[in-house]
Amino acid sequence: MKSLFAFLLMAVLAASAQMSQPMVSDNPIKVSDHIWAIMGFPNIAIVVGSRATLVVDTGLGPKNGATAARVAAKFGPNNQKLFLTTTHFHPEHAGGEPGFPRGTILIRNAVQQQEMEKHGQEMIDMFSQRSPLNKELLAGVVLRSPDVIFDEEAKIDLGGVTARLLWFGGAHTKGDELTFVEPDRTLISGDVVQNQTMPNIFGDGGTPASWLAVLAKVAALNPAHVLPDHSAPGDGSLVAAESSLISEIRTRALALKGQGVSADEAGKQISAELKTQHPEWPNTNASGFVKSVYAEPPGTSDSGP
Ligand SMILES: [Zn+2]
Ligand SMILES: [Zn+2]
Repeated sequence: MKSLFAFLLMAVLAASAQMSQPMVSDNPIKVSDHIWAIMGFPNIAIVVGSRATLVVDTGLGPKNGATAARVAAKFGPNNQKLFLTTTHFHPEHAGGEPGFPRGTILIRNAVQQQEMEKHGQEMIDMFSQRSPLNKELLAGVVLRSPDVIFDEEAKIDLGGVTARLLWFGGAHTKGDELTFVEPDRTLISGDVVQNQTMPNIFGDGGTPASWLAVLAKVAALNPAHVLPDHSAPGDGSLVAAESSLISEIRTRALALKGQGVSADEAGKQISAELKTQHPEWPNTNASGFVKSVYAEPPGTSDSGP
């Protein structure tokens, strides 16, 4: 029994090490007709049209950004233009930009750019302190201004493939960006829609209510495929699953709050309940999200702002 436990523990540790292992690999998987993904920390999407290519997210630091750009260049080798966008401003998603070739068109939404200017360097410093490898990867990173900044939507025609870059409001961060690719009907969802993964609101990002409001807009896109940034790809049902997970945690947390239970205790109880409901999930620690629910102003409606 002990050896089975040890084996399971090792398997879990190996899986989580792979998920947070910062080096970008060079063997992408196919997600849909025009989209490939390099699975890792984070998953990086490559969207390929007949004239141009779009990469979503960079990997941690310029060395990883260069790997992502090199892998992207293998698809559509005659494409003249390379676009780069980022799901949010955190360093593993955006800090590899300097590794992309000159002439790459960097585009992101205005709210995300504001967060980057306010907290980007602070996050790079925080990630650098986590390990010597992170420090090396992020050394000397200078975050440049985007070539294009948009408010709510930018459409990129890649040649037979259209990428809609969308800002629907705050969720994991204030500036979470979603990319919806047609005709594939694939959603590149960042942290907003994940697969068997706990939601997490970072710092002064969104609120549980604003996250649910974002998901209602995402559902209206009716995606057929979803590629999250920190979990496995899935079909469009992941959007409804994310909404129910967030609603369930929120309803449960508000009930416990109403009974006078502390946020810490509610986090423990809800995490344990989720573990029972979803024993196969790698992690059901809802403590952080429960704190976000406790911090919501009373009377916040489900429809959000
Ligand atoms: Zn991330
Ligand atoms: Zn993040």
